[in-house]
This record gives sequence, structure tokens and C-alpha cells, in this order.
Amino acid sequence: MANSKVYFTPGPSELYPTVKHHLTTALDEKIGTISHRSKTFIDIFKSTTDHLRSLLQLPDDFQILYLSSATEIWERIIQNAVIEKSFHLVNGSFSKRFYEFSGELGKQAYKVEAGLGEGFYPANITVPSDAEIICLTHNETSTGVSMPEEDIHMFREKNKNALIYIDGVSSLPYPVLDYSKIDSLFFSVQKCFGLPAGLGVWIVNSKVIDRAEALLKKGISIGTYHTLPSLLSKAISHQTPETPNVLNIYLLGKVIEDMLHKGGASALRKETEAKAQMVYQYVERSSVFSNGVADARLRSQTTIVLNTTIAPGEVNNVLEPFNMAIGAGYGSKKESQIRIANFPAHSPEQMEALVKILETKLG
Ligand SMILES: *Cc1c(COP(=O)(O)O)cnc(C)c1O
Repeated sequence: MANSKVYFTPGPSELYPTVKHHLTTALDEKIGTISHRSKTFIDIFKSTTDHLRSLLQLPDDFQILYLSSATEIWERIIQNAVIEKSFHLVNGSFSKRFYEFSGELGKQAYKVEAGLGEGFYPANITVPSDAEIICLTHNETSTGVSMPEEDIHMFREKNKNALIYIDGVSSLPYPVLDYSKIDSLFFSVQKCFGLPAGLGVWIVNSKVIDRAEALLKKGISIGTYHTLPSLLSKAISHQTPETPNVLNIYLLGKVIEDMLHKGGASALRKETEAKAQMVYQYVERSSVFSNGVADARLRSQTTIVLNTTIAPGEVNNVLEPFNMAIGAGYGSKKESQIRIANFPAHSPEQMEALVKILETKLG
């Protein structure tokens, strides 16, 4: 039987509404069968890359690379840029895991840590001068804490030599980033792009590429098939080193094309903020839910995390007859918080319906 439930879970989440149509076309066109060295694939790679470039308004200096997940990209970042020391802001499970990777790969990782539900005030943060890279998470999906773009941009000024990496997994294409203030960003497709999991996208500028090549010249191992030089040598001819997730690269291009037709990133941003407002305004009236993030300026627009006096399982029991589901809290907050994804795949009508049911049934 078809599953018609609407998933407000923060990844995997609802698929973008046009995915079903594009998937059918992909099967008709045998996208899963064609060679990744064929002209058809080269055209798909090129088309997806061009659409993404246009959605994110990327400068020419930035290259787009396809890997298998954001988790893989964490590892590749450390391998391709760090000789000794990385720096991380840690305020939840995802940013913490990125930090841990550095140590597991034999590097020394510095961190500045904030409590769950808390964020950072960059004016008060000093990055050690020997940190080779600075790793920031735009949206910590486990706690619903975001870094405002202007806070991200503050790191460049005081840290001219470190490369700056942005984990934008659960927010891109929402944030408006100044590309002169960052060197790299990345995401995976099962969050805001509304696709099945299994594709990570890594965007790098020439400084990031130069760094990898410098490490290689020094005789430092930077990995095997997914080193930056290896990825780039293939990307130049619109290909990947390995047999990639051709189907998802195809679907990503199609979904981005649809997003561009609907007004692109600025239209998405407006719609995202309007939907987030619906939830945050309801929270002010609710007797069951309260904000998981105390500082309103740091509250996420794309993954809304709320304290709950009713167990998340109970909330989902209430939503079940209405064919909706929200996410439980993450880790130690599993029973005391809920998480509501607010991605482009969630329509304003669906979000309005969710809020109405929560308010009517739970107060
Ligand atoms: C989900 C998520 C990841 C990991 O993505 P995968 O595709 O599972 O590797 C990394 N960072 C953030 C902020 C996330 O939300």
C-alpha cells in the first residue's frame, strides 16, 4: 500500500514533490544503466553542475565535486588540507563528529565547544594561529542552532592563512554566503534538496585545491581515489574517478532546475522563513512546546528544535491519523525534544496543517 505520510523528519525527509516524475523519466531513459564514461553521463554531470552553480551563485573560482556523503567529505577535508592542526566549533553531534575525524586521522584538533542548544559569538573566539583549517557548521541539525552568515564571515578577517570550511548539509541553499569569506562548503542531498540519500556535494576554491597539491608534493598521503587532484582531474571532463551515483546526480540537477523555475534561492529563502515563522509563532502560544534554542538570533530556519513536555512518540501518535510525522530529539535529547524539518519539499500548506493539528490536539 502506498505510504502517503508527510515526513517532517530532518533527513532523510520528504522528497521534493517533482522527484517521482523525474525518477520515472530516469527509468524510461535507463539512467541507471548508462556508462559513467558515456556522453549521456557527461551531459548530466555538466547540467547538474551548471544548475547548482546558478542556484548558489557560485563564482567561477569554485569547483563542484561529487562524493558519496557529507560524512565522507569531512574525512576528505582533513586528509586534503591538514598536516598537523585543525580548528572546529562544536555544539552538537554533527560538528562533534567532524572534530573527532581529525583526531582519528592522526591530526591535532582544536575545538571551542558550546552546550546543547547554544551557539557561538565569534567576536569572543580566538582561533590558534597555527590552525590550518577552520571548520564551521552553518546549521547543527542535532540541536537546531544556526550560525548567522555574518558570524561565519567574521572568521576570515582574523585568520588570513587558515582555509575556512562550511558544513551546510541541513541548510543549503538557504544561507547567503559571501564566497570571498569562505573557501569550501558541502552538503548531502537527503536534507534540503529532498532526494534519497547517497550523494555528497563538495564545493572548493583554488586555495583548497592548491593546499591538497602542496601536501601531496611534501609526500603526505591525502587518500586514494577521492583526493582533490583525483576528483578534479576527472571533473574537468565532467566525470568522476569511480562509478558514481549517476541516478542521484541526475535527480539533483532536475530538482535544482525546478527550484530555479520557482524563483531560485531567494524565493526558497522567503518561503522557508515564512514557514519557520508559523512554527515559532505557535511555540509562543503553546503550553507543550518551548524553544530548544534560547537565543532567537541563532534559531534554525530549516531544522526547528523544540523542548516538549510530551514524549516525541506520543506527539507522533497524535499526528498518525493525520498522516504526518515529526522527528524525535537527537542523542541525549531523544525523549525531551522534537525536531521539525522545514525544507523546500515541505509546502507552506503542509506546515500550516502541521501547526494547526499540534495546536488543536496538544495546545
Ligand atoms: C546529516 C548531516 C551530516 C551527515 O550527512 P551524511 O549524508 O549522513 O553523511 C553532516 N552534517 C550535518 C550538519 C548533517 O545534518
